Amino acid sequence: MAQNLMDKIVSLCKRRGFIFQGSEIYGGLSNTWDYGPYGVELKNNLKKAWWRSNVYERDDILGMDAAILMHPKVWEASGHVENFFDLKSDCKSCKKRFKTEALKDKNKCPECGGELTDSRPFNLMFKTYQGPIEDASSAIYMRPETAQGMFVNFLNILDSRHPKLPFGLAQIGKSFRNEITPGNFTFRTREFEQMEIEYFCRPEEADKFYDSWVEERFNWYLKLGLKKENLRKRQHSKEELAHYAKACTDIEYRFPFSTSGDDWSELEGIANRQDFDLKQHSKISGKELMYFDDQKKEKFYPYIIEPSGGVDRSVLAVLADAYHEEKVREDTRVVLKLNKEMAPTKVAVLPLLRNRPEIVELARRISKELKKSMVTVYDDTGAIGKLYRRQDEVGTLYCVTVDVQSLEDKQVTVRERDSMRQERISVDSLGEYLINRLK
Ligand code: ATP
Repeated sequence: MAQNLMDKIVSLCKRRGFIFQGSEIYGGLSNTWDYGPYGVELKNNLKKAWWRSNVYERDDILGMDAAILMHPKVWEASGHVENFFDLKSDCKSCKKRFKTEALKDKNKCPECGGELTDSRPFNLMFKTYQGPIEDASSAIYMRPETAQGMFVNFLNILDSRHPKLPFGLAQIGKSFRNEITPGNFTFRTREFEQMEIEYFCRPEEADKFYDSWVEERFNWYLKLGLKKENLRKRQHSKEELAHYAKACTDIEYRFPFSTSGDDWSELEGIANRQDFDLKQHSKISGKELMYFDDQKKEKFYPYIIEPSGGVDRSVLAVLADAYHEEKVREDTRVVLKLNKEMAPTKVAVLPLLRNRPEIVELARRISKELKKSMVTVYDDTGAIGKLYRRQDEVGTLYCVTVDVQSLEDKQVTVRERDSMRQERISVDSLGEYLINRLK
């Protein structure tokens, strides 16, 4: 059943234009995905919600957008050149490569039963060359996280905006990791988007802010509309912690990847990175990335709390959580029960008879007017039942139907997605009616 659910989500994503296989006409490129017309809207809505709650609604966080390509010394300082490894094992027979950590039997190939090589470290950073000459001096990396772009700008932010501790930087952007085994649709890919906050604070306050960020971020996923029973927090054991971290808690979502439907997997990690990054960059760059407290007259390296989430994983969780099927007479109605903020389209305007020019003309006029204040589509490519089902499947909140009667009484039928309740509303007050409901 659960495996079924994931298949249904993947199929709906393709059928309705949320997510397509990357380079599909060439047979695809190993687990790359392209967001289609509805997917990009949903993804943008999610990013906007994150930016609003973390940047616009707070006084202590500033936004940033750093370059993907960074000086190679950044990755030396961060420890990625030395430590950003997964262990891999190769099958001597079928030549497939596996992440050692995921193998039940470390000696036997899970695909063909062949003998596996000893596990060997594999650096996850994508390496490329800058400029026309491909030699060691021109080698650079595609960033494996957005975080470093914020650390290296610490002094620029202090000098240009003069924030007082505690304060944070927020950034959304692409990251790249040469994952050994990408998979589970958009859950693990080699190119993905992150939303990260670096929150700088006094060292003695770090534990307090770590705890409050874990709560804050957990609650944010609830506000996205995810069901509480599908979310949990998981604290890392000492052995699991990254080299820079004092503590880390993952926010996990119960994804329907397998038949058990119990695949708790990471949506976001909240880590106490201590003063590791600022100290390291100070050491390697020779610039002192310290904070001066002008009241206490002291200089020190702030600690950093980092809530680091994945855009693609969050979009996938939102889709899985919203997917809903119900029996309507003989039929199965599929509805994406996305909340008002996430729904890619808020309103669809549908003419009941597409061969009646007056109806089409009125419907188009209504759609054009509504587009000024909400994301609205016009669709006359099928019979009304089919059009409703199509809009339900992409989570459109309201359908406005224009019929013969509308030409006389200047009223239209407004149908609400979840209840399917219908109301007659006058064309003149339609905009206000919908704006109030979408608030
Ligand atoms: P995992 O253990 O699943 O590999 P991670 O702990 O290495 O993830 P982080 O380094 O904490 O991940 O990155 C922060 C966030 O970025 C993750 O919580 C996840 O949402 C997202 N992310 C990381 N790697 C990928 C990936 N390969 N594909 C999609 N999203 C990713």
